[in-house]
Order: sequence, then structure tokens, then C-alpha cells
Amino acid sequence: MQAKPLPCPFFIDGEWIESKLAGTPVHNPSTGEVIAQCPAGGAAEAGAAVEAAAAAFPGWWETPAVERARVLFKFKELLERHFEELIRLNTREHGKTLGESRGDVKRGIEMIEFACGVPSLLMGESLENLARGIDCETVRQPLGVCAGITPFNFPAMVPLWMYPVALACGNTFVLKPSEKVPLTAIRIVELLREAGLPKGVLNLVHGGRECVDALLTHPKVKAVSFVGSTPVARHIFEVATKHGKRAQANGGAKNYIFIMPDADVENSTRGLIEAAYGCAGERCMAGSTAVMIGDAGKTVLPSILDAARAIKIGPTDREAQPDMGPVITRQHRDRVVQLIDTGSKEGAKVLVDGRGARVAGAPDGFYVGATVLDGVQSGMIVAREEIFGPVLNVMRFADLEAALELANRSPYGNGASIFTRSGKAAREFKHRVKAGMVGVNIGVPASMSWFPFNGWGESFFGDLHMQGREGVQFFTQQKVAMTRWFSYGEGDIWQR
Ligand code: NAD
Repeated sequence: MQAKPLPCPFFIDGEWIESKLAGTPVHNPSTGEVIAQCPAGGAAEAGAAVEAAAAAFPGWWETPAVERARVLFKFKELLERHFEELIRLNTREHGKTLGESRGDVKRGIEMIEFACGVPSLLMGESLENLARGIDCETVRQPLGVCAGITPFNFPAMVPLWMYPVALACGNTFVLKPSEKVPLTAIRIVELLREAGLPKGVLNLVHGGRECVDALLTHPKVKAVSFVGSTPVARHIFEVATKHGKRAQANGGAKNYIFIMPDADVENSTRGLIEAAYGCAGERCMAGSTAVMIGDAGKTVLPSILDAARAIKIGPTDREAQPDMGPVITRQHRDRVVQLIDTGSKEGAKVLVDGRGARVAGAPDGFYVGATVLDGVQSGMIVAREEIFGPVLNVMRFADLEAALELANRSPYGNGASIFTRSGKAAREFKHRVKAGMVGVNIGVPASMSWFPFNGWGESFFGDLHMQGREGVQFFTQQKVAMTRWFSYGEGDIWQR
């Protein structure tokens, strides 16, 4: 029997609001079952959320930074107390394994840990006697109402890249999570309310383009953070900046992992397999292209093929966990399968084939098995498009120089890694590769909360990245104050 759908309310001005609006079904990708309906809010809901955030801003800004941080300390404690519940909910709506959900929530908690320390980063600079009798200081002030729009692939972590820092800096916020995975975001916001956040400081709305465009054009929204695919990131950045807002928009990616012929076989296999197939390849930092240099195609590739063939797929919503879960929706599964067909038609060899994957006990889940396409050439569609599924492209080059030349032609620039025992090769790669996050013997060089999440090229539109000091800079504006006093004031006690 189909279970009753889970509620998917809006959260506006401290109230949970159930909506009758039509919307998008939220699935359990392991079984295909519909577990909730995400209502498609529009300009009315977005506008109400922005007004609530605008009304809450003066009070939250005047709340001392250390008091704001105290709410976040409590929030972190609540997330830790509800950790198991959160990872199960995350897995249920997203389909990643429980281990991967653990990572998703843990990385999100690390963002809160960072945000708890934001008061130190809000400190300004000062110089006494900039000119005779004149002192100068800088202070960082919040922007006002900020908005965040997030993708489906990290339901816990990506929203937490944004609002803990924004709130710690004194802003108020409107979050629009992905309509495919709204439930984890809702539960986490509920925990923040329980931590004592005043009403209106954080609001949550659901919807698609209409709702997002209303946020992007609302005169009271001062800054927009976005994470998602490149075409949408470009749209968000263009519309938000055209309307005078500050914007940071993370886009898609196509990440290369270079395997040098001297790479340690066991470690590079483990690193590459985890990078290509972790979260079923649905990561902006997925190592989706293995670049075999020189004899690496003979020394390392066979071990990678064996490991890819051994990956067990299955449902993630039960105790026995597979190596890899389903992808997000039926349409996405069909798109990934179609891209594998396209690669094959274009001349790539399907050395490991995940098409037609069937999982016993979950016939309606959205499964694609681990796939390896060999002989991929730079002009092929599979080499250019982000597949966002468990598909590893293999390209071969005679030397590091030729491989770097190819990788640096990519319009994206999120991550790039090299596996080697040579310090010289690693140094050359780190110095010359055009990507904002670089790994040496690390398959997924995704930076953690204290460092910027540093996409380049079409993987990022904006100037200030999320996470780290740049995150604090994004959510604040500096004021420079110059002070001069002419006299000691009225009264005898001031006479000299
Ligand atoms: P998406 O671009 O389809 O959706 C992201 C968000 O934008 C969602 O909230 C969605 O409702 C909204 N949206 C979609 N179309 C819109 C439109 N036309 N106008 C306004 N809003 C719109 O992305 P997705 O499929 O949810 O996520 C996967 C993508 O996100 C991949 O490309 C992945 O690489 C990227 N991603 C990037 C990073 C990064 O940091 N660079 C991190 C995670 C995911």
C-alpha cells in the first residue's frame, strides 16, 4: 500500500504553511514511489517570504554577532542529535547511500561550525592618525535580505553553504530548495527554528522558474546565491546582476582525473572509482573523465575496469547497503542511458555497461549501473556534456603536455586531479591546469567549509565564492569610517 505523502510546507514569517498548489512529485528513487508533492509557489509566495525577511532584518542585524552565533551553536547541536534521522530522510528522497548521506549532512554541519566563528571574520581594520587627529576604521555590515536557490544533489549540504554564513553576518534569508528534494531542507529549517531563530529571519519557499524569477527581481532582495547547472547559473547571474543584486552562481562541471604511468595502482583505482561513481556520479566534483597518460592505460586501467564491474547497485532505503544507489528521477536515468547510447554511436567502446541494470526487489527504481566508455575523443557529445550519472569516460594521451592541452580547453573549471608518484609532474599539473580546485593523489578535491568552493570558468559566475572568507565577504559590505574630534566638549572636567 502506498504510504501517505509527507508534508511539504512553506515556512514564512515563522509559520509552516501547507499549500494546495499543484507541483512536482518527490520520489524515493530506490523504489520509484512518490513520497511527497512539492508545491509550485510563485511570485505571491516568494514576495511574502521576502517581506517577512525584510521585516525581520533590522532586529536580526541589531542582535550582537556573538548572540547570532549562539543560535548557530545550538543549531549544530540539534543537527548532531538528529543526525541518523536526517541521513535516512536524505537517502529516502535523494537515493544516495546512507554513507553518502552521512557525508552530505556532515559537510553541512561543518559549514555551521565555520559560521559559528564568523564574528572573528567580521572584525574590521583600523589605523590611528591616518592624518593628524583623524582615525580610520572599517566595519563589515550585512546586506539585508539574501536569497538562495539550490540543486538536488546535496539536499543537506548545499543549502547549508549559504544561510548559516548569511545569518551569522546579520542578513535575513529566503531559501528555495530543489523541488526534487525539499524534505531534508524543510527538516533542517525546522531544527533551526527549534534552535531559537527569531521569526522571519529564515524563510523557505518552493517552486520553479516563476518563484526563482520573483526572488531575482524583487527590489528588497540584495544578494542571490545559486548552485545548479551552468545554463541556469548563467541565467540567475545575469538576471540578478541586471536587477542590481550581488550574485554568486555555481554551475556544472566536467572534471578530469589524470593517471600518470607511475601512479600507485591500488590508490589511484580507489580514488578514481570513488570520484566517478560516488553518489552515482551526481556530483559537480565527480571525476567523470579518466585521462590515461602513456602506459597508464596498461598499468592502471585494467584494475579500474575490474573495480567498476564489481560495483553493486541497489536500493539505499534499507539496512543492507549497496555500493551505489539509483539516480534522481526516471527521466534522468533515461537521459544517462541515452548519452551512453550516443557515446557508443560516436565510436566510444562501452567496456563496462550499466544500461538495462535491473535490481531485484526494486523493479521501479531509477537505476543505471557503473559504465566505462573508452576511446572518448574531445569532439564527442559525451566528452562535452555533463552526464551527471555513473559514467566514466576514458581518454588516452601520450604525455602530460598533450593531456593538459586538452583539459585546459574545457569551458568548465571546477575540479582536476592527478595521480602520480612524481613531484615534478604533480607540481606542473597543479601550476598549469585551469581548474579552481586541484587534487594531487586525491580524487575529489572538493574544498571544505574553511576554504572557498572555488569553481572557475563556466562552473562559476561571480566574484566571491561560497565558503571560507569569501563567503563572509559576499554576505557583507564594508564601511570605512573616518573620525575627527575638534574639542573635548562642554563642561569643566574636560578643560585641560
Ligand atoms: P538545476 O539547474 O536544474 O536546478 C537548480 C535549481 O534551480 C533548482 O532549485 C531549480 O528549481 C532551479 N531552476 C531550474 N531551472 C530553472 C530556471 N530555468 N530558472 C530558474 N530556476 C531554475 O540543477 P540540478 O539538476 O538540481 O542540479 C544538478 C546540477 O547542479 C549539475 O549541473 C551540477 O554540476 C550542479 N552543481 C554544481 C555545484 C557547484 O558547486 N558547482 C554543486 C552541486 C551541483
